[in-house]
Amino acid sequence: MIHPAELIRRKRDGEELSGEELAALVLAYARDEIPDYQMAAFCMAAYFQGFTAAETHALTDAMVQSGEVIDLSPIGRKVVDKHSTGGVGDKASIVIGPIVAACGVPFAKMSGRGLGHTGGTLDKLESIPGFRIELGGDEFIRQVQEIGLAIIGQTADLVPADKKLYALRDVTATVDIIPLIASSIMSKKIAGGADAIVLDVKVGDGAFMKTLDDARELAGTMVELGRLDGREVVCELTDMDQPLGGAVGNALEIHEALDTLEGSGPPDLAELVLGASAYLLALSDLGVDHDEGRRLAERAVASGAARELYDRWVRAQEGDPTRDVLPRAPVVRTVTASSAGFVERIATTGVGLAALRLGAGRLHKEHAIDPAVGVVCLAKRGDRVEAGQALAEIHARDESSAQRALDEVEACYRIGDGEPEPKAIVLDVVS
Ligand code: URA
Repeated sequence: MIHPAELIRRKRDGEELSGEELAALVLAYARDEIPDYQMAAFCMAAYFQGFTAAETHALTDAMVQSGEVIDLSPIGRKVVDKHSTGGVGDKASIVIGPIVAACGVPFAKMSGRGLGHTGGTLDKLESIPGFRIELGGDEFIRQVQEIGLAIIGQTADLVPADKKLYALRDVTATVDIIPLIASSIMSKKIAGGADAIVLDVKVGDGAFMKTLDDARELAGTMVELGRLDGREVVCELTDMDQPLGGAVGNALEIHEALDTLEGSGPPDLAELVLGASAYLLALSDLGVDHDEGRRLAERAVASGAARELYDRWVRAQEGDPTRDVLPRAPVVRTVTASSAGFVERIATTGVGLAALRLGAGRLHKEHAIDPAVGVVCLAKRGDRVEAGQALAEIHARDESSAQRALDEVEACYRIGDGEPEPKAIVLDVVS
């Protein structure tokens, strides 16, 4: 029997709670035995007092226990998974999955939908006509055995405590608590069943983590939570001070994922996916190191094997893998540079919000997504542009939404005289 008000008071006063107390609190909340207002007060106390490493571990464990845990052992191989904390234009998983599977490594991923200005892999996959994101547990495992790759929506019973808690944190200004973000992400990855996981923590304007220091703290916490549960975790910290690649919007991002699988993707996206694939291959049971993993990943793209695997995977989930069937927006307009100079900055959240308001994301939970619309950033940070040169394309459903997005995206670009310092896509790696 727990006394929630007493636990809130003790957390508020900076006391460390025991693992049993935290587990009882989280599990009782998941069973609707504790009201939202008490859990919200607890999260706010945690915002100011934080959690110790032992508390974070207990919390994560309790979240995992709140629902089903997927058993991937019937696959009979070491299974890998990949997760990003969410960014603008992040279609990396849709490229990494086929590359890794084409190299012979089973990749099993449960994915989420878009959140705020950041897009979600499931929404992107659903822009492929026919693509089915819901597979039963047995189907999921069979597909990973047969094709080497499945990406599906989270099952309803996967970490139900996180579903409830995340929705509460979202509306009580308690999302940005590093131990809570770490336990939210890692509980889902642990329950998802993979043995080895590459995490991509986005850093910058378009990300949850605005600074490298915060990103390093989150990465270290997640790597440790994985280790305590017997999972191997490598965490890359990657730049989100501009959109990843050019396309922001669901079908547009599938086109760009296909370009990258065919070896002609944008350099930052290509670098990110080859690097992450190399880490996944090095963690797999292939017995290769990171450098050999990188060579295998590059070969899978150059030989066409990764693109072929994409086709088999999408067909297995009942989608049509050809490009021509992807939906197209009827109105395409161009944002042009008003003066010559260097692209000094692209306000990443602003581009994400412009795409969202075009219909690529949701303004509220029930919103239907328009798969065809979005923004394509043609000029990236550091590019030299002339007056009148195209900076971005707007793909819209109608003229009025196109005009609004045009103004919004134009305001996201800062053109100046100074050439900005080049910045690598991968900023650091924590393992
Ligand atoms: N993504 C999650 O899954 N959980 C968080 O708390 C933040 C980002």
